[in-house]
Amino acid sequence: MTRRKLVAGNWKMHGTSADLDEIRAIADAAERLKGRVDVALCVPATLIHRASDAVPGFPIGGQDLHHQEKGAHTGDICAAMLHDAGASLVIVGHSERRDAHREEDEHVRAKAESGLRSGLSVILCVGESDADRSAGRAVEVVSRQLDASLPREGAAGSNFSVAYEPIWAIGTGKIPSTAEIAEMHSALRERLIAAYGAEGQSVRILYGGSVKPSNASEIFAIDDVDGALVGGASLKASDFLPIVEAAAT
Ligand code: PEP
Repeated sequence: MTRRKLVAGNWKMHGTSADLDEIRAIADAAERLKGRVDVALCVPATLIHRASDAVPGFPIGGQDLHHQEKGAHTGDICAAMLHDAGASLVIVGHSERRDAHREEDEHVRAKAESGLRSGLSVILCVGESDADRSAGRAVEVVSRQLDASLPREGAAGSNFSVAYEPIWAIGTGKIPSTAEIAEMHSALRERLIAAYGAEGQSVRILYGGSVKPSNASEIFAIDDVDGALVGGASLKASDFLPIVEAAAT
């Protein structure tokens, strides 16, 4: 099955209104490449409203959401608030949140289900630690993580993506070998088919972790790599756009 690639930027805790020109440059290029690659930027919550006003029609996303619809949750935001600010997608289960905010698989699943229920597209992150990779249990650990984090409903189609992000590759400049990425993506595809049947074929599996202009083409050529989640290299249009172009080729 052909799946159009998705290249999503994760700006993490970077970006203010001073960076709107970078977002405009990225959105302009995405418009030129429309139909060949999907592009999105997940910016800090404080920037969503301004960013979505600056680039109407270009997908702007959040980086987290609370799984409940409202309530006494100081500092959190829910799916309806993301919509209200102009977001059309959200990342859930990023390893930095699983670690620093002690988010467990079940919690991540509830967030994914809440996002999908509200009509947001969802990118669900999974990935192994350095210790798990060194011990030879990366595929087993990540498959288990995926099974436990997968939304039970609403996940088929292009509104739901999985991002395989080895924790040890995030922001380090290290990446798995092409064989290791291929092995993991093929295992994750099997899990998606086990969970969703034939619909599991329509879910995009992104790779994330130190994707750069210099390695993007090689990564996108791997079977079952349907795009990328990009951190550091998404902050500047001059770094991000060559990656987007590699995915469009
Ligand atoms: C990320 O944290 O989602 C990520 C992929 O970061 P980087 O590209 O900087 O490794």
